[in-house]
Amino acid sequence: VTDVQEKQEEIEEDVSETKVTYNVVFVTAEAAPYSKTGGLGDVCGSLPIALAARGHRVMVISPRYLNGTDSDKSFASALDLNQRIKIFCFGGAQEVSFFHEYRDGVDWVFIDHPSYHRPGNPYGDNLGAFGDNQFRFTLLCHAACEAPLVLPLGGYTYGEKCLFLVNDWHAGLVPVLLASKYRPFGVYREARSILVIHNLAHQGVEPAASYKNLGLPQEWYGALEWVFPTWARTHALDTGEAVNVLKGAVVTADRILTVSEAYSWEVTTIEGGYGLHDLLRSRKSVLNGITNGIDVAEWDPSSDEHIASHYSADDLSGKVQCKISLQKELGLPVRPEVPLIGFIGRLDYQKGIDLIRLATPELLQDDVQFVMLGSGDPQYEDWMRMAESNYRDKFRGWVGFNVPISHRITSGCDILLMPSRFEPCGLNQLYAMRYGTVPVVHATGGLRDTVENFNPYAGEGSGEGTGWLFSPLTTESMLGALRTAMQTYREHKESWEGLMRRGMKRDFTWESAAKQYEQVFEWAFIDPP
Ligand code: ADP
Repeated sequence: VTDVQEKQEEIEEDVSETKVTYNVVFVTAEAAPYSKTGGLGDVCGSLPIALAARGHRVMVISPRYLNGTDSDKSFASALDLNQRIKIFCFGGAQEVSFFHEYRDGVDWVFIDHPSYHRPGNPYGDNLGAFGDNQFRFTLLCHAACEAPLVLPLGGYTYGEKCLFLVNDWHAGLVPVLLASKYRPFGVYREARSILVIHNLAHQGVEPAASYKNLGLPQEWYGALEWVFPTWARTHALDTGEAVNVLKGAVVTADRILTVSEAYSWEVTTIEGGYGLHDLLRSRKSVLNGITNGIDVAEWDPSSDEHIASHYSADDLSGKVQCKISLQKELGLPVRPEVPLIGFIGRLDYQKGIDLIRLATPELLQDDVQFVMLGSGDPQYEDWMRMAESNYRDKFRGWVGFNVPISHRITSGCDILLMPSRFEPCGLNQLYAMRYGTVPVVHATGGLRDTVENFNPYAGEGSGEGTGWLFSPLTTESMLGALRTAMQTYREHKESWEGLMRRGMKRDFTWESAAKQYEQVFEWAFIDPP
C-alpha cells in the first residue's frame, strides 16, 4: 500500500509541477548583469531565470541605464523594439521606448528615456541621490504597466492576465496604477501583484505636492498619504504631509513578500518597520517571507573565472592558493597561516560599518589581516583609505564597486564579517559559505535564517553549524565572535574544515525558493482583488 501511495504522490507532484504556469512580470530598478548595486540586482537577475526554467513566461522590466562606462556594454545585446509610448505624468507627455533581449528563457525589457542616461549608479552619483528619482521611477512604473499590453515579445503579448512582481519602492506605483488607472476601466482585472520587499528602509517619500505629478487619479491620494511624526518636521509650519510610494504598494498589492522569513516578522515590529509596521501587521494574512537563493553558476568555486585556483568541498586545496593570490594582489604580506577576514558591501549605516571602524584598532592588535571592499558613504570611504595607510601590513580598503574583486575576496578570505544592523536577506554570507569562507554575522533577519551557529560538541563531537552569530550588536560581542573564529581557525583545523565543508554543502539554489514563489503565485490568484 505504501508503495502505491508513494507512486500516487509522485504522479500528483509531477502533474502539479507541470499544471499551472504564469506570465510573470518583474518590475525592478536593477537586474544583474545589466545593472547592480546590491542584492536587489542579484535577485532580479537570477530568480527570473529559475522561474522560466520551471515553465513560466517571464519578463523583467528595468531602466536602460547608460553612464558612459564599461557597464554600458551589458546593454549592447538588447535591441530597440521600435515601439514608443507616451506616458502622462509630471505635467506633460513623456515618450519612452523599449529595448529587449531574450536570454536564458527570460524577456529582458529595458525602458529607455534620457533621464536614465547619466554618470553614476542607478540611484545617484558621488554628490548623492539624484533629485529626480521620483520622476525616473514613476516612468518605470507606468511603462511597466503598458509593456505586457503592447509589446509583442516573441510574436505575442503577455496580455492582461499576468502577475506583477513589484520590487521595492521604485516599482511601488505598479499596484497603485493597476487599482486606480486600469481595473476601474476593465483592464488588468485578472492580473495580480506581489510586492517583494528587499529593503524597507527606502520608501520613496516626497513632499505631498508631488502627488499631482504621479499620473494617478486625485481620489487615490489616500493610498500614498503619509504624515511625518512631529520630531521629523523641519519647522513650525511644516505639516509633515508627504507621499510614500512604498506605502501605496503595501496598501494595494495583492500579496506581500519579504526576502527572508525572519524579515517578514521584523517588518511588523516598531524597530524594523520604518513607520510601516502597523500597516504591514494589518496585512499579515497576505504577508510571507521567502529566503533568497543564489546564482550557483556565477558563484561556484569549482569553475569561477575570477579566482586564482578552483576547489570544492571534496578538495579544498585550491582555497589557500586563492588566499595567497589575494594577499599578493592587495600587497599584503603573503602569510597563508594568518586568519584573513573580509567584508564586502555598501558602506551604509545599515551594514554596521561604524562598528567595524570602532573595533578595527583593537582587532588589528591581533595577528590578523583584514580586507574591505565597498563604496557608499564618503566618511567611511575616507576612513578605509586612512586605515589602509595606518595599518599597511594588516588592512586593505578597496573603495569602489568591483565584481571580480568581490569574488576574489570571497574565495581568498577565511572569515567573512557582516555586522549588519538589519539584513532583509543578505547574499554575501551565502556566497561566503559556498566558497568555504566562514561567516561571522549579527543575529538579525536573513543572517539568522541562513547561518547556523557553530557548536563544536554536537554531532558526536564532530561539530555542527556553519559560522558564528553574535548579539547584541556591540563591538565587544563582534570582537568576541571574531576571536573565537580566529582561535578555531588557528587551533582546531578539523573543526574549521568541518565548518567550511558544511557551509559549502548547504543548498542555496533558487530551486526551492522558486517553488515557494509558485505557492504564493497560486495564493495570489485564489482571492479576487
Ligand atoms: P544589499 O542588497 O543590502 O546591498 P546583499 O548582501 O543582499 O546586500 O547584496 C549585496 C550584493 O552586492 C552582493 O552580490 C555583493 O557581492 C554586492 N556588492 C556590494 N558591494 C559591492 C562592491 N563594492 N563591489 C562588488 N560587489 C558588491
